[in-house]
Amino acid sequence: MKVTNVSIKLSPQSGDRLKAFCTMTLDGEFVVRDLKIIEGTNGLFVAMPSRKLTDHCPKCNGKNHLRAKFCNDCGGHLPEKRVSDEDVQGKLHADIAHPINSECRARLQEVILHAYRDELRRAGRGEEAAAAVAQPEPDAYQEGDSGVSPVHPEASAAKPGVKNGG
Ligand SMILES: [Zn+2]
Repeated sequence: MKVTNVSIKLSPQSGDRLKAFCTMTLDGEFVVRDLKIIEGTNGLFVAMPSRKLTDHCPKCNGKNHLRAKFCNDCGGHLPEKRVSDEDVQGKLHADIAHPINSECRARLQEVILHAYRDELRRAGRGEEAAAAVAQPEPDAYQEGDSGVSPVHPEASAAKPGVKNGG
């Protein structure tokens, strides 16, 4: 399997932990959208496309994101702490598509980060490109822990308070 095309959409602000969105084409005939390039604790990693996990409202059985405070359907107050703080990192999102071994993950990441650096240079952000290195181990990703997204909830929400200081 070869990545035959990568397109990168840079985050406008270089201080965001979410650095870019990415679309890749596999073997010239299959497109995967919504990959994310995230600034981790000591470098960049590529997060697979993911969806928010949901549960059901106790009153009307409507579907709501685990962090929602009120039901989307009936407006009722939802129970708090449906996910414990320790569990939050892995359990708010689940990967929609992902590699099943670290070799494939590393290969995809290399191609995508290469395209990311090219895009930064094209945008006149060469210094960021030079500093854009992959972190050795992706955050919150464990071998065999399939379906668990490495995306930090904070990173995907792109809160203004989350900056990397650079
Ligand atoms: Zn409801």
